[in-house]
Amino acid sequence: MKLPSRSKSYMIPEYSVTGDLLSYLTCNLQYRYQNKGTLPPSKPVQRWFGEFIHGVIEEAYIQWEQNNMHFPWDWKKDIRPIEDLIDLRLQVRGLYPFDEDLFFSIHNQSDEELTIDDLNEHDHKKLASARAEKAINIWGKDLFPLIDASEHLIKGIRDMPNYDENTSRSNYYGINGVVDVSSSVKINKTLEQSNFDNYNNRIIEYLKKDENFQKRIAKFDKDDEYEILIDYKGMKRPPEKVNNPKVENKWETHEQQILTYSWLRSEQKSSKPIIAGIIFYLNELVPSKEDLILIKDELNNGLTDIGYEYDKDIELINSWQEDDKAPELSDNFKIDRSIRIINVDEYEREKALLKFDSVVSNIEESLIKEMKGCKIQDAWKGDSDERTCSACDFKTFCKNNSVKTKDFKIP
Ligand code: SF4
Repeated sequence: MKLPSRSKSYMIPEYSVTGDLLSYLTCNLQYRYQNKGTLPPSKPVQRWFGEFIHGVIEEAYIQWEQNNMHFPWDWKKDIRPIEDLIDLRLQVRGLYPFDEDLFFSIHNQSDEELTIDDLNEHDHKKLASARAEKAINIWGKDLFPLIDASEHLIKGIRDMPNYDENTSRSNYYGINGVVDVSSSVKINKTLEQSNFDNYNNRIIEYLKKDENFQKRIAKFDKDDEYEILIDYKGMKRPPEKVNNPKVENKWETHEQQILTYSWLRSEQKSSKPIIAGIIFYLNELVPSKEDLILIKDELNNGLTDIGYEYDKDIELINSWQEDDKAPELSDNFKIDRSIRIINVDEYEREKALLKFDSVVSNIEESLIKEMKGCKIQDAWKGDSDERTCSACDFKTFCKNNSVKTKDFKIP
């Protein structure tokens, strides 16, 4: 009797929106070393803050829902224990902040005598704590009541671009992503209610002011439900225009991320029409020195979309020097810059998906070259701006490094 042989294993390559798309667009070669080679960055501070702020907001939402808490929250009593919990969770995964970014664990140091005044955002010593406090007290109070689901894993499948049965690894590929928050609202009702109850939900107010959003909801009835996808980012608002072709256009890639999420979500049975996405750029609530340098440059060169009407804030930023104390910017300036509304329309969504396909096609092409014996640095294109290269762990041996490392010495 002839026993049938087991068929060849069939695996569909999976790509994630943040882990692959955003990372590949920063630098193809760095992506290869970090993601495909699973070499974690040696100083993952940026990653630490991103994960910290996501963890803090998610935990704050759970506590708000369970304990029906009112705002503003007291930093020491309500927020500090959450920071500590998230910090410990990240430590288990080997992620640590810079010393000055966070008040250290209660277990390491008594913080009996700490007060809200110690959370002095203007000396920029305790950035992560200051940002967590502002994120919860400024946005949490309007965001939490709108949340329908948080940390929502969404997946989808697409045809493999440029599929070739002899060389391609699979005829499909999978996309996955985690939406920070999805909010299902009867928007016309909510908009009416916000006028009626005298309850000015700031997020709804921003949606009301957005002309494109208004045009889209005009097609809906009062009782129609639809969804808004929300994402928070532990970074400043990126510039709308980028002059250097080597610099990744984060403005566009964030829009692509929301549009791709909206397609993934629309593939799920329980979804309602997705009308918009909102991104919160949380660093804008307490900008660091590096953020202020960039904000100053972008405002002076017309590269950003928000802030020009705030004459007093512009004056403060322009007269501020790097060694000075951070300027006391107005809340309205900071809040306006921290929220971005992205309208979801079919045409833009299709464009974003084609872009994702082309990124996957490039990654697959480089992987196949490598599988055929091509050297890593020849199979993947290393090309990035000075800022990214100078923070890159691979700059000492990368042929395409844009910063000079001739002074590098092995200790
Ligand atoms: S040094 Fe620059 S070009 Fe080379 S891998 Fe790193 S980011 Fe990419």
